[in-house]
Amino acid sequence: MSSIETCRLLIGGKWCDARTERYGDVWNPSTGDVIARVPMCGPDDVDRAAKAALAAWPDWRETPAPDRARFMFRFRDLLERHSESIAQCITREHGKTLAESRASVQRGIEMVEFACGLPSLLVGESIENLAPGVDCETIRHPLGVVAGITPFNFPAMVPLWMYPVALVCGNCFILKPSERVPLSALRVGELLLEAGIPPGVFSIVHGDKTCVDALLTHPGIRAISFVGSTAVARHVYTLGAAHHKRIQANGGAKNHLIIMPDADVEQTVAALKGSAFGCAGERCMAGSLAVAVGGGAGDVIERLCAEASRMSVGRTDTGAGVDMGPLITAQHVRRVRDHVEGAQREGAAVVVDGRAARVADAPGGFFFGPTIVDHVRPDMRIAHEEVFGPVLSVTRVESIEQAIALGQQCDFGNGAVIFTRSGRAAREFKHRFNAGMIGINIGVPAPMAWFPFTGWNESFFGDLHIQGREGMMFYTQQRMTMTRWFASKESDAHDPVWRPTKKK
Ligand code: NAD
Repeated sequence: MSSIETCRLLIGGKWCDARTERYGDVWNPSTGDVIARVPMCGPDDVDRAAKAALAAWPDWRETPAPDRARFMFRFRDLLERHSESIAQCITREHGKTLAESRASVQRGIEMVEFACGLPSLLVGESIENLAPGVDCETIRHPLGVVAGITPFNFPAMVPLWMYPVALVCGNCFILKPSERVPLSALRVGELLLEAGIPPGVFSIVHGDKTCVDALLTHPGIRAISFVGSTAVARHVYTLGAAHHKRIQANGGAKNHLIIMPDADVEQTVAALKGSAFGCAGERCMAGSLAVAVGGGAGDVIERLCAEASRMSVGRTDTGAGVDMGPLITAQHVRRVRDHVEGAQREGAAVVVDGRAARVADAPGGFFFGPTIVDHVRPDMRIAHEEVFGPVLSVTRVESIEQAIALGQQCDFGNGAVIFTRSGRAAREFKHRFNAGMIGINIGVPAPMAWFPFTGWNESFFGDLHIQGREGMMFYTQQRMTMTRWFASKESDAHDPVWRPTKKK
């Protein structure tokens, strides 16, 4: 039997034990075995991490920005070198396929590359003679100690959305990874230490609501980046703001995929399959509701059903090539099943049914196969709630107007996609659809490091989004300085070319 590791905290540059009696289990979702224990930290551990970060901040803040970026160059090389072992760690604790884990590490590395170039974005603005003899400038300053709270679905990538940027901007960072997948975050944290990050500049604490609330209310922490479900995002935004913190909180999603009658059948089927069933549907940008417009999408849906039925589902931890791995926990499997059964009771048709998925060599794994629920009506629960599993609902409308109107009823607003050959339909959709990230013949329009993750409505709480220039703005505050130097007899006397400032 493999040993069960106990996750440690990273405080003041040292790995240490938590001061708590409360622990949770981390599973290998492919087998259902417990592979680690994670401490549920409380205010005491959070305070220790915050104090170490506050002590480290004065030196880190004064470290020149290019030197801070140099840590990221070294970190990037280490990530490249260890990317395969990180991908394996992700697959072991999360269950996604190795190919999916590798792709997520690559996306994370791109965030580090973006952070390597941040000094160019940190350059401020200035103008001479805004008034006679008066110059004005803005300079970006770091905030201080900031924290990141992350979800289970991208164990390494989502933390990497946050701390490379926060650190190069001159902040100290405390990470609270998901208690369901803490191992990959720890592995990547080890590499940051190996890159030479000074003690206290980067810390890791673990836990659930108790730990999150301690971060949200700690007086030494200036800002919180959060990614997770909408209910928790709202809580983070409300409690954090009440404690005078700057907040960016990404929430859940219900992404619509509009299929126009003129869509390319083959390309659309491939994109829908990847969008709905990639990463077992556990993606905030996963396609969740297919909206077939004008009765022309029959072929697409029929062929998608055939493709989904053929997908192989199995354990991912042995490196076997399967199309889809398990879900995160047995509890989550029950939640996804509950959604499908609810839709069936409300009158929808389960045309591809993944509920009976079993994997012979992993009877204890948390499996749920690809599922397509057709004839979903907008009033059904499955049409408007996030499922976060490999379940695609299909609804049918007469026109693009109706598809856009359906989007208007959606509480979320993360992503939306249109499949069409018509530039006019695509433009109309892009201009009017009620979501912040739009795909045109792209199944998962998740922005890469250089662009912000622009969720709308209940998919985002805050002002400045994660990634891109907005990410840098979130982790910095501007100072405006206005300057006037007066003429004086002493200085004028020593400078033959001096032209005194004209008095008004
Ligand atoms: P979650 O909200 O359950 O957990 C996210 C984080 O919040 C974890 O670190 C967890 O410990 C903490 N947490 C959980 N319950 C809490 C509570 N009651 N009070 C305070 N903190 C709490 O989310 P999850 O299940 O880990 O992740 C899936 C969700 O994340 C989905 O809704 C998905 O759409 C969303 N997500 C959104 C984005 C995005 O960019 N919008 C990206 C990835 C995932």
